[in-house]
Amino acid sequence: MIIPMLDLSEQYETIKEEILSKLDQVMSSSQFILGSHVKQVENDIAEMSKTKHGIGVANGSDAIHIALQAAGVGSGDEVITTSFTFFATAGAIVRANAVPVFVDIDPITYNIDPSKIEAAITNKTKAIIPVHLYGQMADMDLIMNIAEKYNLHVIEDAAQAIGSSYKGKQVGEMSSAATYSFFPTKNLGAYGDGGMIVSNNDGIAELARVIRVHGSKPKYHHHVLGYNSRLDEMQAAILSVKLPHLPAWGENRRKHAAYYSDKLNSKLGKYVVVPFEVDGNYHVYHQYTIRVKNRDELQVFLKDQGIATMIYYPIPLHLQPVFKELGYQTGDFPETERMAKEALSLPMFPELKKEQQDYVIQKIVEFYSSK
Ligand SMILES: *Cc1c(COP(=O)(O)O)cnc(C)c1O
Repeated sequence: MIIPMLDLSEQYETIKEEILSKLDQVMSSSQFILGSHVKQVENDIAEMSKTKHGIGVANGSDAIHIALQAAGVGSGDEVITTSFTFFATAGAIVRANAVPVFVDIDPITYNIDPSKIEAAITNKTKAIIPVHLYGQMADMDLIMNIAEKYNLHVIEDAAQAIGSSYKGKQVGEMSSAATYSFFPTKNLGAYGDGGMIVSNNDGIAELARVIRVHGSKPKYHHHVLGYNSRLDEMQAAILSVKLPHLPAWGENRRKHAAYYSDKLNSKLGKYVVVPFEVDGNYHVYHQYTIRVKNRDELQVFLKDQGIATMIYYPIPLHLQPVFKELGYQTGDFPETERMAKEALSLPMFPELKKEQQDYVIQKIVEFYSSK
């Protein structure tokens, strides 16, 4: 059996007619830049996030960069984040002329460990970026307490966590701003690049809106340095078709995750650590990530059986060559480094079938029965 990490074509078949008719609307209207679909999807996603504002931008990386800039983060400022994330989180900090300061992860959730944040704060610290990794929100109460104590902005990198919640609170509801990515493989994926900032902070939202159009307000008057980073109208139209399905797709992901965890725990509890869902968290399983010893060997074995898996992420950001000048070394963040060696993400998408999951589970069992 061939099992991909995810399969977007099956989903397309279920929404194809609506998508094509929406795209036809956009092309007939000839409103290609910041038209009615962008406005609509900004409003809808802001409402879902319980925020006052939604600002559509070109991608999730720009969303972080623009949110930082709009929050006043700039030259010489420090921004605290996790080393165990996609490159863009720290890349955006550097692009905002600030310095990333890494903190180790909590080995249970793989999110930033709030108990280690205070030790990283200096008089240059301006913001904290928690990343809601794999679809589960970081411990926002603890993070917001620290942020309030030291007067810091919190920008949530929610690229992997649209639709998730924490103690009944939505992504973006508690912080200065949150950022989404609509990269095609994300839980709400466009058919190209896209991103959004959501915020309850009027000042940040207004500035972000100006930055995405070259810092121009009114037109041809430039008081801040912006650039061209807008959510594309066609992508917004596609997102408007997909958005109503997001809750049901999230529920399907959760069902598949529960099935994996139940079976893996009962058959392989000794070898496989399944994802831990913290009480009060609504995990949307952007990834279903296990941790195992012999990870690389298991990955090759599964590949030979037709099963795709991915490693998110094999090299922590504090050890990336491009960040060498920051001066970090192997051993600085032991939990992050251990996870980078043990993490393995299994196939996960709403349309995943039970037979496919059974096959994945059976093959992992087979691998460990020879150990
Ligand atoms: C995908 C992702 C991003 C970047 O989003 P793009 O839309 O690809 O620019 C940022 N942070 C995290 C954690 C991501 O997973």
